[in-house]
Amino acid sequence: MAQKVITKVLNVGEKTKEMMVEYFEDFKREKTPPYAIFQADDGDTVVTMYQSGKVVFQGRDADLAADFWIETEKINYGKAEVKSSDDKKEKKEVERKIPLRINSIGSDEVGTGDYFGPIVVTAAYVTKDNIDFLLELGVKDSKKMSDSEIKKVVPEIIKKIPYHTFVLNNKQYNELYSSDMNMNKMKAILHNKVLSNFADKGKYPYDYIVVDQFENPRSYYNHLSDAKFKVYNITFLTKAEDQCLSVACASLISRYVFLIEMDKISKDVDLEIPKGAGDIVDSVGKEIIKKFGIEKLNQISKINFKNTEKIIK
Ligand code: MG
Repeated sequence: MAQKVITKVLNVGEKTKEMMVEYFEDFKREKTPPYAIFQADDGDTVVTMYQSGKVVFQGRDADLAADFWIETEKINYGKAEVKSSDDKKEKKEVERKIPLRINSIGSDEVGTGDYFGPIVVTAAYVTKDNIDFLLELGVKDSKKMSDSEIKKVVPEIIKKIPYHTFVLNNKQYNELYSSDMNMNKMKAILHNKVLSNFADKGKYPYDYIVVDQFENPRSYYNHLSDAKFKVYNITFLTKAEDQCLSVACASLISRYVFLIEMDKISKDVDLEIPKGAGDIVDSVGKEIIKKFGIEKLNQISKINFKNTEKIIK
């Protein structure tokens, strides 16, 4: 804890400002950042005062360095305005629900919020001896990876990590979707399908099976009432890709396959096919109808989305 660099920001009034300028006169750095009055060293803390009266304390002991001036400001004005970047970060850090170094099977899907393109679901199997390899690749921050990073990283992942991917194309989706087949039921069936490939515990010993949670476990198993084989012993976690490397891998592989499928569709219709379900999607949909007729939408989009109405109008 003591090693962490923290940032503390204090807004000071004119009186405190003058006192600080005087105090730091002998510790001033030669260079002053833009809009700053001075920048100075206080032990291992860097103190920067801006013309606005904002003072930034940055360093491992920023708390100590700031405290004196917070008290001074309080004496001068009866109160002090302080912000600490450390408070915010502490809250943002993920609270671990399962250990990092485990053997795990994880699954995640992509494409359920995209009008164009298939639904892709992947299950991946990660053992303890592949964890450092994956951390080095940056898999832990899978959500932050750009499309081009995914295209670089996933070919490396699939050399080492066993996985099963299922692509539900748009024609299949549109046939399946009905009054008793909603999106969550579809997801449950597809997750169960890819996970069942790793059901042989002798071959794939695991500590956890983790699914990125999209509904409560009871609904999940209700949705599987017709499945011949069900994978049990699942740990459902929200934001599971931050918690579990096999889910992070599954997420990345799904996104990779989805990107490839979207590229294929773009080539086929000779238009850049957008992700999501926003306004651009509608205008591209209109162009597709103009070029190929309405039947084409059935092959490349999820017809039950509201976009279809807007596109046809
Ligand atoms: Mg997910």
